[in-house]
Amino acid sequence: MKSAASKHVLVADETVSHNVVRIFELYLGGMTARAIADVFNRENIMTANEYYYSTVGKPSPYRNNKNRWGSGTIMQIIKNPAYYGAMANGRRQVKSFKNGQIDIKPVDEWIIVEDTHAPLVSKELWLEAQQINRTNNAQTVRRRSTEGEVSIFAGIIKCTDCGGNLVFNRKPLKSGGATEFYRCGTYMQKGKDVCPPHRVDYNTLYQAVLSSVQEYAVLAVEDENKLINEILKASDEFKNKNVQRYERSIRESKNRIKEIDGLLQNLYEDKVAGEINAEIFKRISQKYSEEQNKLIADVEQLEAELDECRRVEKDLTGWINRIEECITIDGLTRAIVVELIDRIDVSEIYSVDGEKNLDISIFYKFERFNLPHDRQKAKELA
Ligand SMILES: [Zn+2]
Repeated sequence: MKSAASKHVLVADETVSHNVVRIFELYLGGMTARAIADVFNRENIMTANEYYYSTVGKPSPYRNNKNRWGSGTIMQIIKNPAYYGAMANGRRQVKSFKNGQIDIKPVDEWIIVEDTHAPLVSKELWLEAQQINRTNNAQTVRRRSTEGEVSIFAGIIKCTDCGGNLVFNRKPLKSGGATEFYRCGTYMQKGKDVCPPHRVDYNTLYQAVLSSVQEYAVLAVEDENKLINEILKASDEFKNKNVQRYERSIRESKNRIKEIDGLLQNLYEDKVAGEINAEIFKRISQKYSEEQNKLIADVEQLEAELDECRRVEKDLTGWINRIEECITIDGLTRAIVVELIDRIDVSEIYSVDGEKNLDISIFYKFERFNLPHDRQKAKELA
């Protein structure tokens, strides 16, 4: 937690820090994150969320089943360098967002500032835990696909040529095991004369999407406001339609309405003083009233559009927060894919200098433009 003395300094929260130490001990002892989560749930150990809300004296807004430890939460703790006393800062360079020139450094090139605060576990043990995690990950990809969790891309992965869904295939190998891949549904039904196979290896696709989500998460965590502004600015729908612009138009219209009130008042006084006749008074006051009525209608319209604009910004912020949470994920779930991604397009395999390539284009929600990392070139492994 943040130190009471300085919000820039981290200190251990003695009430719960032993739980963190225990997670590392169990993990290094060979237990999986899932098994550790089960132990914590069995022992009714408060989740970080529950604990947070208990310290601020509010009921947790999460439903009961959300107040459960999951393997994701355990892994977030294990992967966090803060527990051995360091702070991680991701680094990226944006040359020009509009031209899509973004350069993100891979996770292992993040700047780690060592010894920023007292550790809960030693760096040696922490590094050992990371090694276990890397080994597990390599196995997870295989396990995931053979356990039939392949539906995570269902309805989202499309053929670039015919626009149809890619269909999951499994082919048993003589050596045991199976190869798993997607192919264009049109090709499977009508043959290659109608659409080429668009075959993509399941693991290739999985890794391409996972690393894209992780990179995007780094981008979001690094500079949330900038990313939100850039997405809104680059999106056709919201071009020239930002909140400030609406607020300014509304303010200007309201000022003019008030100004007209004053002009009408003066006009009335002139009439009372006999400086203008009833005919002129009627004509001018009518003109002002018409302008005022139009402005009132405009303000109503602008306020409705401003509300809509704010709602979209709020949705977008929610989406950004969701992708920020993905900074610590080590695997994809159906929920992550569905919440973040509109569509994944897979091209037919093509050759570049004798090397087989295919394009996997990931279209994130809220993006009406292509970021360079949407277009992952994946080498065909199948
Ligand atoms: Zn097709």
